[in-house]
Amino acid sequence: MYQAPRGTQDILPEDEPYWRQVEKQMRRQARLANYGEIQTPTFEETGVFARGVGATTDIVEKEMYTFLDKGGDSMTLRPEATAGIVRAYLQRGMASRPQPVKLFMLLNTFRYDKPQKGRFREFHQIDFEAIGEADPSVDAELVALHWRLYAELGLRDLSLQVNSIGDHNCRPAYIALLADYFRQHLDGLCEECQRRLETNPLRLLDEKRPQCQAVLEGAPRSADHLCDACRAHFETWLSYVEAAGIPFEINSRLVRGLDYYTRSVWEVWPPVVGAQSTLGGGGRYDGLAEQLGGRPTPGVGFASGVERIILEIKDQQVDMPSPTAPDVFVVYQAEGGKLAAFRLAEELRAQGISADLSFGDRKLGKQLSAADRARARFALILGEDELASGTVTLKDLQSGGDQRRVSRHDLVSVLRQADAATQ
Ligand code: AMP
Repeated sequence: MYQAPRGTQDILPEDEPYWRQVEKQMRRQARLANYGEIQTPTFEETGVFARGVGATTDIVEKEMYTFLDKGGDSMTLRPEATAGIVRAYLQRGMASRPQPVKLFMLLNTFRYDKPQKGRFREFHQIDFEAIGEADPSVDAELVALHWRLYAELGLRDLSLQVNSIGDHNCRPAYIALLADYFRQHLDGLCEECQRRLETNPLRLLDEKRPQCQAVLEGAPRSADHLCDACRAHFETWLSYVEAAGIPFEINSRLVRGLDYYTRSVWEVWPPVVGAQSTLGGGGRYDGLAEQLGGRPTPGVGFASGVERIILEIKDQQVDMPSPTAPDVFVVYQAEGGKLAAFRLAEELRAQGISADLSFGDRKLGKQLSAADRARARFALILGEDELASGTVTLKDLQSGGDQRRVSRHDLVSVLRQADAATQ
């Protein structure tokens, strides 16, 4: 038997309420802050991510699903959303719209990662971006939206971690300082960190291995080495986050280790923090559009893993609506009744009333248990008597099985009334 590829999942109907709730909340927050939905392709030319995510990141170094298509062009399944969205912004002339262009997307993403709890090879992200504006209040709007998304899903005790990593003016000197510091403390670093030191010293700050922690704790902090413009941007950003009533912690080890990420970075952590637990993260990327061949264009955004959000909702035992269930389950006498039952189910569906029924030729008792298992509100029984008299028996499965006869003529209005009564 075939198995789903390692690190992929089948999302089954019982999880649907979680997905629906997360998606609903995403759309609600988008509407409240006026973000428009975008869809970009599942794959892009490899360069979009190689340049847009950055050659020295884990994603580009080891995790991309890259293939040559039949025309010989190198394509990559998207490992994240931002690069594709910025590519679309540039290609579709969105710079001529009022700025910032505020966009959101729900997407599947692909990373050849090591599968474990909360870490998949195909996963889903909610992504929000605001492109074309450098004002730090935009960063604050996104942080507030990000925070509200979780809060309104019912998540509690989260923590917002923030930092600033400077820009092309002040970051080179900071990185040089950082690299010097690490070179003086090579003995305290694992081999992987020693290797990364040569390609991307900032990324060391992200390292989770215990053996490196003492050295990392003593490392110079980016926020202490910002130029005046970056310091002002950082302070203004945080004053706006404060104005939105959101508590935060400045975390000097939070980084995005790429040249075109600039200034603001943030992450939201759940109460129990593990290596795979970050719910979502964001940051500013004022250098990205240029990397993709466009005019210099500031931008800021965040992404959050849907599977991670759902794991956290389950861990925190947040109440979710039940999976959808049919309004009625049509139950019929096997001989003669099936065609009438099928027709009735179709009539009800056409009237907007959800209806299901058994297939095959099951006995009435079996069909009634199927109605129970489907968690239908009513069983709608079409026996011989009912067929002969143009009626149905309506059995209320949710109030202990009360039964009454209803004429076919009144059926829809009776069901509509019952539906209204349970809303
Ligand atoms: P990143 O682009 O790495 O900052 O990821 C953004 C968010 O996507 C993270 O905070 C996670 O919620 C989620 N995420 C990243 N990688 C994975 C993965 N392999 N499996 C599931 N979720 C992921």
